[in-house]
Amino acid sequence: MSVPTITRRTFLTTGVAGGVVGAAVSVFGFDVQPAAAQARTLKIERTTETRSVCPYCAVGCSVIIHTLGDRSRNVTGTTVVHVEGDPDSPINRGTLCSKGATLRDDIVNERRMTKMLYRAPGADHFEEKSWDWAIDRIAHLIKETRDKRLITQDYKGRSINALTAMAVVGGCTDSNENNYLIQKAFRAGLGVIPVEQQARI
Ligand code: SF4
Repeated sequence: MSVPTITRRTFLTTGVAGGVVGAAVSVFGFDVQPAAAQARTLKIERTTETRSVCPYCAVGCSVIIHTLGDRSRNVTGTTVVHVEGDPDSPINRGTLCSKGATLRDDIVNERRMTKMLYRAPGADHFEEKSWDWAIDRIAHLIKETRDKRLITQDYKGRSINALTAMAVVGGCTDSNENNYLIQKAFRAGLGVIPVEQQARI
């Protein structure tokens, strides 16, 4: 077999053309298809798949998040390498819009907030707080609001359990089970009237 003469120009041209049309045989005479196929699978090779929901809008498209590593105990530094639409989802059938397609950059982002920041009433700055502190604070404010503002009788004197001084808004990633618990705890339990969901807004 005669070996073709390779100039800098033909090398570059072939490289570009090979990248575009996926040429099966290189100018060097060997089959590059297996290598190209291998390169295509490398990104999600050895990743762990986690199914979740895109948090951006009320459509609630299902996604598969690929995380490097297999969750073994001695694996550290796991990171999300790819996010794609879930083909098993009846909602999006594997597709994502241009915003959902950027989800990985939302997860792996140095500007992503990972700590609780609190701004006290009237303050001009945020303070770092723990999640335990935040949960205690929320619980305290809920009780204080209910103790002060619960409406126990309607205009005809009938007994009611109505709290209109606070509201609950769920997110589009909440499951049916989450929403059931929210209704049970806040509407049936505490009497909160304004209970809404991002998926309905
Ligand atoms: S992928 Fe797009 S359409 Fe689907 S939930 Fe996310 S933002 Fe909404």
